[in-house]
Amino acid sequence: MLYRVLRVLLVIGAIAGMAYKGIIREDFENYKMHAIPALMYHSINHTPDKWPAELCVAPEVFEEHLKYLKAHDFNVVTTQQAIILLKSGQNVARTVILTFDDGYEDNYSTAFPLLKKYDYRGNFYVVGKDVGMTFNKDGIIQYMSFPQLQEMHRQGMEIGSHTMSHDPLAMIKPNFLPWEIYQPLNLFHEKMGFWIAGIAFPNGSFNDAVIAEIKKHVKYEYAYSGVPGCNTLKIVKDRPFEMRRAGVYDRGRGAKDIEKALLKCYIFGYLEEKGIPAELLDRTLTFLQETFL
Ligand SMILES: [Zn+2]
Repeated sequence: MLYRVLRVLLVIGAIAGMAYKGIIREDFENYKMHAIPALMYHSINHTPDKWPAELCVAPEVFEEHLKYLKAHDFNVVTTQQAIILLKSGQNVARTVILTFDDGYEDNYSTAFPLLKKYDYRGNFYVVGKDVGMTFNKDGIIQYMSFPQLQEMHRQGMEIGSHTMSHDPLAMIKPNFLPWEIYQPLNLFHEKMGFWIAGIAFPNGSFNDAVIAEIKKHVKYEYAYSGVPGCNTLKIVKDRPFEMRRAGVYDRGRGAKDIEKALLKCYIFGYLEEKGIPAELLDRTLTFLQETFL
């Protein structure tokens, strides 16, 4: 591991040196013309008691993020639109995908109206068994219902699967994979009348058996891994079930928080295209953080 970390650091050092001399700027700007970041949100709400702060972005902060995208002329698309754009070879500079995991009710009551206000599309990955449910465990948790999801879909939002149970797919017994992967396809079609095309892996967890199971069901066009970076033609052609995505967190810096998340996606994606696997880079940074901070 240490050798691989050193190798990654050496390449990053070389690229940073070139960036310092201004050589890389143009290359990086060119990269952004064919790379689409996908950002991940969860609840758009003030953090309820006992909830981890990473799961919530306050509504007014979320709107600051949307204003930032508007001010910087971003095109905010669904994942299926992004895949079409990448395959068409168009310039996709300033194109971004906004995704929302877990299916919290505030996605419908808060995020959806805000997205419409800015004429933006969102992508909502919901957990099959939780749709329409209200739980009272450490405070009330409410999930979107099928009619709400249907209405969002009618108005241009993309709805996808976040599995049936939300258990990390690489950890469960392989004989449960068909239920986690196939069942939402059927259930959502039965309840809402349209086929979903995508799945977002709970906690970004997947392995070869997961990918093999998804490939059995032709309705699935893509899946989101938890690997940070950008989506390019190469990713959607070679690894459509390992699309890149990174979280946006409310660190109290308003629009700076989305700006930083976008930059992280572009840098990870750029380095990946230069031959540094995003998974390895992610692990290297975690290793450095744990060792030195
Ligand atoms: Zn989740």
